[in-house]
Amino acid sequence: GKGDIHGEVVVLGGGPGGYTAAFRAADLGKQVVLIERWPQLGGVCLNVGCIPSKALLHAAKVISESQDMGAHGVTFAAPEVDIDKLRGWKDSVIRKLTGGLGGLAKQRKVTVVTGTGRFTAPDRIEVQGEDGTKSVSFEHAIIAAGSEPVVLPFIPQDDPRVIDSTGALALDNVPKRLLVVGGGIIGLEMATVYQALGSKVTIVELMDQIIPGADKDIVTPLMKRVSKQFEAIHLKAKVTKVEAGPDGLTVSFEGGSAPATDRFDKILVAVGRRPNGRLIGAENAGVAVDERGFIAVDKQMRTNVPHIFAIGDVVGQPMLAHKAVHEGKVAAENAAGHKAFFDAKVIPSVAYTDPEVAWVGLTENEAKARGVKYGKGVFPWAASGRALSLGRDEGMTKVLFEEGSERIIGCGIVGTNAGDLIAEAALAIEMGADAVDIGATIHPHPTLSETIGMAAEAFEGTITDLY
Ligand code: FAD
Repeated sequence: GKGDIHGEVVVLGGGPGGYTAAFRAADLGKQVVLIERWPQLGGVCLNVGCIPSKALLHAAKVISESQDMGAHGVTFAAPEVDIDKLRGWKDSVIRKLTGGLGGLAKQRKVTVVTGTGRFTAPDRIEVQGEDGTKSVSFEHAIIAAGSEPVVLPFIPQDDPRVIDSTGALALDNVPKRLLVVGGGIIGLEMATVYQALGSKVTIVELMDQIIPGADKDIVTPLMKRVSKQFEAIHLKAKVTKVEAGPDGLTVSFEGGSAPATDRFDKILVAVGRRPNGRLIGAENAGVAVDERGFIAVDKQMRTNVPHIFAIGDVVGQPMLAHKAVHEGKVAAENAAGHKAFFDAKVIPSVAYTDPEVAWVGLTENEAKARGVKYGKGVFPWAASGRALSLGRDEGMTKVLFEEGSERIIGCGIVGTNAGDLIAEAALAIEMGADAVDIGATIHPHPTLSETIGMAAEAFEGTITDLY
């Protein structure tokens, strides 16, 4: 009928998973339609996630390093933050990337349809846009609808002083006192930004450590540094009530070291993300969605409906852009008639805090829980010439090896650039490298990458020199 669009492959959602799938399917010769409700591509990651947070974290790092240098004989004046200019720079970084995606879609002749899509049949999605409703039919569909922040019902939703990560990245102002609910990666990253910009930050976390996914020893150096920077960190504690008043938000706490009540100017809720699977009319296509909103898929990223695939945050943890991208390629290749499988052994995780915390493969906690017999090589950065010359020797590199085979099964790193360093460990795990392979690989000197080789040598007991 009128306004009908057909795609051999139709992708619902233009985030890292969705645009990667759309581009891959187009490169494989398919006629592709990409449906996105936001005016630009890029999804959470580019618009309100990975990229804006990293731009602001860069500013935070420059500020805190300039302060550190005072102890080494180079003193700067206190930073003057022009919040409008900083926000403008952050937005320009986003614009460059999302604009680039628009260009790449055009080059590949991918039809981008702007509007909110809902399945109405197993071969049809209806898109509600500003210019009316369009009906998009397909042979294969790839669901890449992503996720959104979890909302806490006992915290007022309609008060502009209560924000989620999107609100925090909007950078409207710098509150005097900020409460961050949730000590995971997103909470800690935003806390780092606002602390550097001048907020007094309090963190409240239910578990007994911040960044609960990582081993405690890897988190300790971060905990030490932020304990000095932040006003308070309440572990094993929770918020029970928030009362909005004219001169602040009065918060009731329970547990840990938290006071009974305290008052804040803003509250950032960062307690996790929920998948968007229940918002897309999946039932009309027969696609099974669980009660939380996740869509189950097999190793080919196929849902229970053979011609419909799903990828990214909407299919499960870890909710990370690099996972979505890899899944997107697999789904697109299968939708285009090739045979592909998601068979990554490991997916690295990184907190871009200062110091950074990164881990890949098994953590010690996981190895113990699964009864995996392992040994470890640990290299403290106090013995790394490069770490010392950066004035940041609090880091640590820990590599886990399987008992018997001595193959690497996991790695945890805390310190400057840990997120970049962890890639070597991911490759080593994928390649099945053992301790000798890693220890015998010549790493450039003086770099932080040497700490991975040194950790392997420490495990072997062959470590010869330091610095
Ligand atoms: P999304 O990026 O969520 O994209 C889904 C898209 O689908 C959105 O554009 C949405 O508008 C669209 N959509 C949804 N429903 C519909 C519909 N019905 N019709 C039309 N369009 C629809 N990950 C990392 O790997 N590294 C990081 O450093 C990192 N930092 C982060 C920081 C923050 C503050 C946040 C919130 C997240 C961060 N993440 C990070 C996570 C990362 O953003 C996600 O894992 C990633 O964006 C998931 O990609 P996706 O394609 O599955 O979905």
